[in-house]
Formats: sequence, C-alpha cells, structure tokens
Amino acid sequence: MKLTTLFAVVACTAWAVSASAQQTGFPIELVAPGKGPFTFPAGYQTPWEKIQILVTSKMSPNLFMLHGSEALDPAHPDSSGGRVMVLFGSDGVLMVDTQNRQVAEKALQAIRSFTNAPIKVVVNSHIHSDHTGANAFFAKQGALIFAQDNLRAEMLRPPARANGQPAPAPDPAAVPVSTYSYNPATRGQPAVTLSMNGETVDFIPMMPSHTAGDTIVRFRTANVIYIEDFYRNFGYPFADQANGGSIRGMLDAIDLIETLARPDTTLVPGHGTLVKKQDLLPYRAMLVDVMAKVKRLHDQGKSLQEVLAANLTAPYDKTTLGDTQQSKDRFITEVYDEVKGLPPVVDGKRAPRQ
Ligand SMILES: [Zn+2]
Repeated sequence: MKLTTLFAVVACTAWAVSASAQQTGFPIELVAPGKGPFTFPAGYQTPWEKIQILVTSKMSPNLFMLHGSEALDPAHPDSSGGRVMVLFGSDGVLMVDTQNRQVAEKALQAIRSFTNAPIKVVVNSHIHSDHTGANAFFAKQGALIFAQDNLRAEMLRPPARANGQPAPAPDPAAVPVSTYSYNPATRGQPAVTLSMNGETVDFIPMMPSHTAGDTIVRFRTANVIYIEDFYRNFGYPFADQANGGSIRGMLDAIDLIETLARPDTTLVPGHGTLVKKQDLLPYRAMLVDVMAKVKRLHDQGKSLQEVLAANLTAPYDKTTLGDTQQSKDRFITEVYDEVKGLPPVVDGKRAPRQ
C-alpha cells in the first residue's frame, strides 16, 4: 500500500513537471472585460435574461474561466458577476465560485459546452452574491461546497442590511458544508489540497481582507491563483467591513501573494483583468497613501464629509477604470471608518448582532 502510494506520488510529480512544460501558450484570453465608461439611467434594473455567461479564458488545457457579458450589470459593468474557474476531467468538475443566482442555468450551459463531467466540488472565495448566488443550484447538481467557517457564519447569520432591515435567511442548500478557518500561525498554507484531473488545487484561507471569510485558490500545475476581490482594477478597493473586511487586511493579503506567487504566476481577480504579482504593487501603494492622508485629516478633526470633499483619489482617477463617484466615496468612507477603529470580527462580522 505504501509502495503504491509512493509510486503514485512520484508518477504524479513527473506528470506535473511534463505538464508544466506543456502550459506554454496559456493563458489564452478569449473575451477581455469591457473598459467603459459605462452609464446607466436612473431606475435601471439589470436585465438578467440578456446577460450571457461566456468562456472568457483558458488557463490550461482543462482549467477554463467563465464571466458575464459587459455593459448590462451596473454592479459589474465591465463583465457581469464574479469570475468562475472550472477545472474539469475524468475526476469531475471543480468550480471556484458559482456566479449570480439569476444566471445559474447559463453558467451550467457554459460548462456543458466543454465537459460532461459531473459537478463535484465548489469552493467559495467569499460570500458576495455574485460569487455564491448559484451555490444552491450547483449543490443540487452534486457539488460539495467548501469555504471558511466565517463565510458559513456570515451566510447563516447575515448582518442587517444598510437600511437596518434583517437580511433574508439563506437557502440551506447554498451553505458550505466543508469548512476550515484562517490561522495566523499557518498563514499561506492550504487548509485543503485536492488532487483532481492532473491538477493539485490548494484552498488557502485568507486573513480578514475583502471579507472575514476569504479563500484564494491555487492551481499548482497551471501556475494560477484565483485572488478574488481584495485586489481590483475596475473601480476602487472594497473592504466589506460589515462582513469583517479590512483595508489593512487587504495590505496583508497582497503581501502574502508576494510570497505565494512566482513572477510568472497568473493571478485571477474576481473582476477586471488578469494580472501578475508586480501589478499588485501600485495598488498597494495607493492603499498606503490614501490611508495615511485620511488618517492625517481625521487626526486634524475633519469629518467624513470634509475628507470626502478633499478628493484624495484624484491622483489615481486617470489610471483607475470604473472610477465612479460612488466607488470613490465607498472606498474613502471605509478608510475613514478603519482609521477611527473597527470593532473586532466575531462570527465573521463586525457589527454586533441585533
Ligand atoms: Zn466579487
């Protein structure tokens, strides 16, 4: 038994080496996200029936990416919803995230355009509905859903909505069943490693950054890491503080990627264009700069309104696609709240339970 296992490991390693050599030519980008600027009339509602789910890139011969069409979804006008990664082969399908609930059938159709393998595994990068909305749909297709404990807690006991109303209860089928947690002592180490379809896939829990339940997903053979939403290059940064996010945590997340990624590793943000780790550095520098400026104004006794009026993102507007007033104001407000001091994360959330 031991010998068999050893042989399997050796054989697998040899395969990985030869497969790596075959990865030349990837990623293949088929559909790039839109650049905008995009505008929507007052009262505009997303026409879900018009949104297409497309195979937008191929990261390896059996690791494809799905994303929505542009110019229709005001939440993500460059490309609707969150990116979905699909690893496929004789061991079945593994998905990173599930897209919006409204396009679940279309996401499955897109997968069925290149594989008939059964849907086996979903891992959620974070709780937002453009990444977990079709969880229940894919669970019913057969997927076992993995995520951080905090994501499960956020889903079972969601923070109240901005208007104070309680959030609706989740569909039980959508809730992750196999969970793990972030441990600062083992930062950067996978909580789960799956060997499927000739790939080795690591689920790496992240510190509270975009939310308190983030996971990045590394595909070792393809040399790709799904880095979800603590980095974005369409619109300004978003730390979901109600769900435990933190701008300072986003700095830590970027620093961790520095140690996990090689210079040629393709990084897959949840939205926007594909990047390499060097592309994270100007973003990191902007976070540091804006935090320092907000802190100075806060320490001088300036109100949030005065800090917003100071237009601290002005130096970055030219190079930031999707630099809407709403995106800027949300970012500066988060930084201001964080400079004032955030309550600790409890059960995946910062706001005390009602
Ligand atoms: Zn997202």
